[in-house]
Amino acid sequence: MKNIADYMWVIISAMIVFLMQPGFMALETGMTRAKNSINVAIKNMSDFILSVAAFWFIGFGLMFGHSFHGIVGISDFFANFEQEDWKAAFFLFQAVFAGTAATIDSGAVAERAKFSTYLLMSFITSAFIYPIFGHWAWGGYFYPDNAGWLEQMGFLDFAGSTVVHSIGAWVALAGVIIIGPRLGRFSPDGKAKKIRGHNLVFAYFGVFILFFAWFGFNGGSTLTATTEIADIVANTMISASFGGITGLFVSWKFSENQLPEPESIINGILGGLVGITAGCYYVDAVGSLIIGVVSGLIVYFGTILLEKLKLDDAVGAIPVHGFAGIWGTIATGLFIKEHFLIEFGITRSQQILVQMLGSLSAFIWAFGVSFILMKIINHFHPMRVSLSHEEIGLNIAEHGASTSIFELSNSVRNIIENRNFKTASKIEVEFGTEIGELTSYFNSMVDDLREKEEAAEEALKSLEHMAVTDGLTQILNRKNITEALEKEIYIASNYHSNLSILLFDIDFFKKVNDQFGHLAGDQVLVDISRNIQSSLRKSDYFGRYGGEEFLVVMPKTDLETAYIIANLIREKIEKMVWSFCDGYMITVSGGVVEGNGSDINKMIQQADNLLYTAKERGRNQIQK
Ligand code: GH3
Ligand code: MG
Ligand code: MG
Repeated sequence: MKNIADYMWVIISAMIVFLMQPGFMALETGMTRAKNSINVAIKNMSDFILSVAAFWFIGFGLMFGHSFHGIVGISDFFANFEQEDWKAAFFLFQAVFAGTAATIDSGAVAERAKFSTYLLMSFITSAFIYPIFGHWAWGGYFYPDNAGWLEQMGFLDFAGSTVVHSIGAWVALAGVIIIGPRLGRFSPDGKAKKIRGHNLVFAYFGVFILFFAWFGFNGGSTLTATTEIADIVANTMISASFGGITGLFVSWKFSENQLPEPESIINGILGGLVGITAGCYYVDAVGSLIIGVVSGLIVYFGTILLEKLKLDDAVGAIPVHGFAGIWGTIATGLFIKEHFLIEFGITRSQQILVQMLGSLSAFIWAFGVSFILMKIINHFHPMRVSLSHEEIGLNIAEHGASTSIFELSNSVRNIIENRNFKTASKIEVEFGTEIGELTSYFNSMVDDLREKEEAAEEALKSLEHMAVTDGLTQILNRKNITEALEKEIYIASNYHSNLSILLFDIDFFKKVNDQFGHLAGDQVLVDISRNIQSSLRKSDYFGRYGGEEFLVVMPKTDLETAYIIANLIREKIEKMVWSFCDGYMITVSGGVVEGNGSDINKMIQQADNLLYTAKERGRNQIQK
């Protein structure tokens, strides 16, 4: 018969154990990247509510129902608590345990496991995998004379190093193997690359909560209000602390940077907690200390081992719950107090062997079943998200939930990919937050770079302009008018079209310079260039060939037409009025040549000869 104190203790313990859920949530979201944090949180919440449902429907009956030959419970499905208050309290406590087993997987496969298949595996874990093994070890905890086969052999796992934690870890191991490592976790040459969590402070907060919740987890497993709870909770605290101390110093000594690594400290604590869970009732304080230290070592080197095997466990759930779980279970046999052995009528070595058998059967059962099931599920419905979903993060891909940090990184990525600041979108600023401040700095940096890019483009344009045009007259320079002529000669000879040129030179230009000054001479060059440029056809080219010598290239124009155009140009210049001297007349002389297929030098030479003839014959005329 349970008294009121028993009720109170078990119910309060259940409530404390419930806190393992937010503890794991904080730990796992903190240990993963921001782009997946919401997904990890949703998984933690969802696996709990699903596992309560699964445990109520099926799990509780399989675990604690009347035993079928010590293998499985076969009553108490859809648990009914009417007139059975104790059963309700017991169910409450066991349901939060099932939730703990189910949630361990979420951290290991975080950042790439698909939400839908993850939920399915949580359900299966709480409905079948956990309860069936639980029956083997704890089947007699509710009905008397109902022990499972491991329990009958004397297997001891007080609060579930194996029953809860290892079972969860072996399911996680199967998931990690089937789903594969996160993108970038191992480089192509096989080197492991750390993917650091985005909020280690939050992860630490989670471990504080877990540390506390474990007092209920181990202490509540008495299922009665006894004075021994004090020893259990004290042992739990000792082991956890020494696990953490070990993680701290081992990483300080052995880690790459030889610094106390944040992850190693909290995983050492968790290892110490898992390790002491099996034996917290059976061992003394010194035993607890040793269990904690060894758990810390196992977790640290187990994490390295997993990396060596190229298994990507995002939070270290497998070393913590699996490896430390095995150790804690076997250590219970190593350090169990003498009077218990006498009471149970078993030798220490026998006890150790039974402990080993229990750990091994947990591994074979949980890993075997979950591996086969996941293989099948994965075949029909891939358990891993697509590559693009993994890249953009599961917050958006699986739940449509964006964060400022995501938008920021997206924008940075766009800029890098497109190598362009012009199209970079402005990110909305969340004022009053650190990320908002970062965003506004980022926006103004992008604005700045955009302005610089635009200025550089302008400068480039003007450089290009300078390269092709003559600085003074702004028409084509010698290099470019020559290139244009070369191109047109090529076209004319290949397409058998006409091509003519006019080379003209200002008459007595020296006199202008001498009489009115060099600046007036410059003005003449500029005005003539502008005037002629604007009156030429679109297809013609006009360039400054030398000092006061100009070249006009006229594609698809025969000699006669070119001659007419040349004279129009000449007359136009003749009629120009000059501000530096009223009535002053400036004239030009030129030579027109038609040539297709001819060589550029020959063509210009001919035009130059004709120009010379024009000068000789009295200037202000065109020769052809
Ligand atoms: P003609 O061609 O009729 O025989 O006589 P000209 O006086 O024009 O003779 P020449 O070709 O020898 O002289 C050309 C002058 O043009 C010499 C040079 O000082 C002047 N000149 C060349 N480039 C520029 C320029 O960019 N600006 C100015 N103001 N004068 C220039
Ligand atoms: Mg001249
Ligand atoms: Mg000249």
